[in-house]
Amino acid sequence: VELELIDWLRQELPQHADVLLGPGDDAAVLRLAPSPACVVTVDLLTEGVDFLLDEVDPARIGRKALAVNLSDLAAMAAEPLAAVVALALPEEGGMQLARQLYAGMLPLAQQYGVSIIGGDTNRWQGSLVLSITALGRPTVAGPLRRSGAQPGDEILVTGSLGGSILGRHFDFEPRVAEALILNSRYQLHAGIDLSDGLSTDLAHLVQESNCGALLWSEQIPIAAAARQLAVQHDDGCSALEHALHDGEDFELLLAVAPHEAQRILDEKPVEVPLTRIGVFTAAPGLWIQDHTGQHPLESKGWEH
Ligand SMILES: [Mg+2]
Repeated sequence: VELELIDWLRQELPQHADVLLGPGDDAAVLRLAPSPACVVTVDLLTEGVDFLLDEVDPARIGRKALAVNLSDLAAMAAEPLAAVVALALPEEGGMQLARQLYAGMLPLAQQYGVSIIGGDTNRWQGSLVLSITALGRPTVAGPLRRSGAQPGDEILVTGSLGGSILGRHFDFEPRVAEALILNSRYQLHAGIDLSDGLSTDLAHLVQESNCGALLWSEQIPIAAAARQLAVQHDDGCSALEHALHDGEDFELLLAVAPHEAQRILDEKPVEVPLTRIGVFTAAPGLWIQDHTGQHPLESKGWEH
């Protein structure tokens, strides 16, 4: 499998100027200069847990496996450079499956200038396991962390939230361009990508920043898919609840001082809509304000 796949990949792969040595040797070589730091992230997807092969086109799985990594690089405001791909393939139809996975990955890699610089491919008795590690270069502003939110900072979010299970959880656009533009032109205090759901990821961020947050329920941008789910399913879950708790939106959530948030909203430096959905507080915990008052907000997002 390995040699045939490497030959095929060498023909297909775009090579970034900073890749000094691509697939084919024992390891790849990447130029990191001028940055002194490299941002690294890994994600693992397992058949039966994260997806079912008889329900999903493998190309969409391949795309998603790379896209979730790019979303994590975006959350750190790092420019994606390269990725390595590890595949454990089932005995039956493994090579065909590998090609399909790569067929989904390659257009996204091309779109974001990411070189797939290597990987490892094995066959085994089990079903598909797919792991991608991505490497990125921070902007001159440095990596954007979860720990910098300050009481009084406003909460900005890209796009709209909820109902990604209807399809967006596969076909989302990682907010790489937005993160790089915002982090290089404005002073961002903290950021996270919404993989586990707004209420859960916001809890992660306030925990790292030692503060709390208050969301304004009427400002939450609710995705059309969240409204559709609320109507379709008779589980008593409102569109707002889907927007608050559904996972895999892969939008960016940012902590920004009020004057800077206002500047961003006035100047509209990115095409994707940005919405101010609340404020960070000195008091710990999560709260939501609606027309009846302020209520504690439970984190009910995706549990890994
Ligand atoms: Mg993340």
